[in-house]
Order: sequence, then C-alpha cells, then structure tokens
Amino acid sequence: MYSLMDELKASQCRESHEHWARYKTVHAIAERCITTGNTFDGGIVVTGEADCVQRVSRQLSLTRRQAEILIDETITLHENLPEVLDTLRDGITTRWQLQVIASRTALIPADSSIIPILDADIAANLRTKKGAWSRARLRDMVDRLVFRHDPDLVRERRKEALDNRGMWIDILDDGTGVFSAVMSAENTRIAAKAVRALADSVCKHDGRTVGQRNSDAVFALCTGTAFECLCGRDDCTAQVRDLGDVVASVSSEVRIHVVTDAATLNGAPGIGWMDGHGVVIDEHVRDLAARPDAVITPLTPVRTPPMGVVAETDGPDTDDTPAPSTELVIVYPGSLPSDPYRPTQACADFVRSRHGYCGEPFCDHSAFDSDLDHVAEFDRQNPSRGGATSSENLNPKCRYGHLHKTFGDWIDVQYRDEDGRLITECITPEGHRILGDAETLEDLFPNLRRIRFEQPAQAPPTPRVITGDDTPPPNNRTAAKHARRRAERARNRRERERRGQIDGPAPF
Ligand SMILES: [Zn+2]
Ligand SMILES: [Zn+2]
Repeated sequence: MYSLMDELKASQCRESHEHWARYKTVHAIAERCITTGNTFDGGIVVTGEADCVQRVSRQLSLTRRQAEILIDETITLHENLPEVLDTLRDGITTRWQLQVIASRTALIPADSSIIPILDADIAANLRTKKGAWSRARLRDMVDRLVFRHDPDLVRERRKEALDNRGMWIDILDDGTGVFSAVMSAENTRIAAKAVRALADSVCKHDGRTVGQRNSDAVFALCTGTAFECLCGRDDCTAQVRDLGDVVASVSSEVRIHVVTDAATLNGAPGIGWMDGHGVVIDEHVRDLAARPDAVITPLTPVRTPPMGVVAETDGPDTDDTPAPSTELVIVYPGSLPSDPYRPTQACADFVRSRHGYCGEPFCDHSAFDSDLDHVAEFDRQNPSRGGATSSENLNPKCRYGHLHKTFGDWIDVQYRDEDGRLITECITPEGHRILGDAETLEDLFPNLRRIRFEQPAQAPPTPRVITGDDTPPPNNRTAAKHARRRAERARNRRERERRGQIDGPAPF
C-alpha cells in the first residue's frame, strides 16, 4: 500500500507535467496560426484563430467549443500567469487548480501592472506552502492577493456586481421556467435559509423531494400563499409555519460568521472572510457590521483575563505575513478547570475562526458547522499523557471526517513549523504522510497567530485511579488504539526532527 500511494502521487505529477506540455504545444500552434493570420481558401476567409481551433479540436478529439476553452486557457496562462504555469510543470499543482486561479484573476484588465506581481506572488505561495490547496483555500488565497495589490479594482468590482443585481426568468421546455435573482452574498444565504426553513416544516410522509419542496416554498414566500404538507393524513404531525413567522424567525436564527481584523472594522483597508462565501472586502465587512442585527464579538474573551503573554520567536519574514521577528502571543484558558476535556466557548469560536473550513485536506465544509476534535486524543484516565484541550491541539472536523478519525486507523497531527506556521498532516495506517491544508485563516489574518488558548493547570486535580508501575494499561480497544497513535505521533515527530536536521529548516 505504501508504494501504491507513492505511485499514485507520482502519476499525478506526471499528469501535471503532461498538461503543462500540452499547454506549451497548443500555445506554439496558436502563435503560429495567429501570426500567419487570415488565409483565403476558395474565396472563404479562414482566420488564424479558427485555423487553430480546427487543428486542436481534430487532433485532440475535442468539440470546437472545448478546443476554444483550451486555447483561451493556454493563452491566459502563458501571458498572465507564466510563473504559476511553471508550478504545473513541476507537479506542484494540477490543471483544475490552475483553472481556479485563472478564473479568479480573469477580471483584472489585461494591461494592469499588477498582473506580473500577482503571478509571482501566487506562484511563491504555491511553492512555499506545501499541502492541500482545496478549491476554497485556493480561491481565498488568490482573492486576498488581488485585494492586496489592487484594492480599488476589487471595490469597484463589488460595486458593479451589486449594481447588476436583478431578477431573471428563463423559459424552459415542457412548461417550466427558471426564476433567479442576484443579490449580496449575505442576502443569498438569508433567503436560502428562509426557503429551507419553510420547506422542511412538513411531516415525513409529505412525498415530495427536497428540491420540489424548496421550489414550492420559494413560490409561497414570494406570493404570500399557503405552503402545506401534502401527506393527506389525518395524523399529520407537520407544524407548517406561518409565512410571517418564517421570515421573522429567520432574521434572528440565521448566523453568518464573518472574521476580520478590528482595524478593518474601524475603517482601515483590509479584508474579511465570510463563512460559506470566502474573502469579502473592507467596505462589505463594514456594511455587514452596520446592519442592525449584526453582533460583533472580539475573538479574545472579554471577561476572562489572559493566563499570560509569551514571546515567540518567529521565522524569517515571508512576503505574505509581514510580522515582526518576535511576536507576543496572548494566552487564554482553553478549557474550564472543572472539565478539562471541554473547550471554553471562546476557545471553540477561536479554533473555528482560525480554520474556517473542516481540518481535513480538500474538505471545504464550514468549520462553523463542524465538530471540534482533539487532534492528539484527550486521555481521561491520565490527562497529562494525552493531548491538551488547547487551540494548538484542536481543529474542526465535519461529522464524516470526525467519524473517520475516531473509528478509522488514520492518524493526524498538528504542529507549528520553524516559521511558526500551523501545519497539519495525516498519516495512513501504513505510515504514509499526506500534508493537510496549505493555509488557514492565519494567512488571511496574521493577528490570529498572536492568540492562543491553553489548558490551564487543573485545580483540584481530577481524581484518577492509582496504579502500580507493573499494572498493565487499560485493556480496551480504544485505549490500545490511543496508545498506538501516541507512539506513531512520537515516531512522526522524531522523523520530522531528523528531516529538519538533514535538510536545514523546512522549505515552508
Ligand atoms: Zn404531513
Ligand atoms: Zn470534512
């Protein structure tokens, strides 16, 4: 299995290299066709572009449309993102990741002076931050860099996009139509929540699919007409809500989490991050904060005094997090002394805000809708032996990921590297290492690195079974699994330290 996993990775690198080689060839063909220009063939003008599309589509078994998309992609990558394109050659990225990057930079005017800087910046992030770039993490990284290099462009685009809000209908076949509307990100989420709340108020015998109920609920909400359970049973238990109630309750029930810096909130240029949406700009953050229903909470607990302040020596400055070389980190209690297993609400909110998404690589599930997991298992018998209830040892996991961790044989670890970056890794049962997310929200908001939550010393100590030195450890499967994981983590740490000594500081 170990070598199969290696082979799988190697085949992906080869595929990336192949895609790069194909882009290169298509680009050469395009250049030649377009330089040749129009040709006259039996009185018909064939443009260079059309000639190129014919060649690429016929040689690669693509439709004309598919060939056009490939050629456009090729030209964009060669002309605007050459350094990013090199990461494909080197097997660091895959084709779909380049497509995401190209689409997030597509609206920058071709003559903008920020394009080469942006290209270099994105490529540097991809090369130095090893690990998983999911669609959402990639989008957040590119959006944040675009905003940093040209905030006015992004502000202008938001205004334009919002000005273009509207409602459309499309006629479909078979007596149906599409009804759609463009509105602000937060209004989309609130409206969707209202529709689902009404649609879900039927009893389990209703008979309609979720989609059908949602569609009927949209209509009922728009027209103020009744929405009823269609089970037709006398004993129907549905409590179909009054439309007015749904609308009223949604405005108090829907929570949209937005993370930002205090300075941005107070008028400085900067970004925010909206759960379920990604990067939003300063003006948008401030508009949200000005809503009458907005609740603004600092991430550091208001009434709990910090446990202490520690100075952390930071690694060399990166282009991305211009932080002083020594950072003051403020430490707050991560759990209540009465129950060291349970994180405090402030600690839980902090961990979710720091991760943004589920802690599993390539899972874009919201952290605010995820469980919190002790990465190194908490040990109820012997808390000093297990993982702590601290922001450094907790991460959010979606229900599926949490169950997979708890009942599967994979191990995950979370630690800070030499540069103070939070790194996660998962390790297959046979010991194959796979890096977790390349970035967290610490990359969007470096101030998050100055906050820690740690498990306070217990007072009074939790009662614990006194055992002699020769007593065997608790003989149950969970304890055995945890002991195995502890040993595996220790082995992994030694391995990491060994690599660090051989290679010098890790390249990320
Ligand atoms: Zn019913
Ligand atoms: Zn997940």
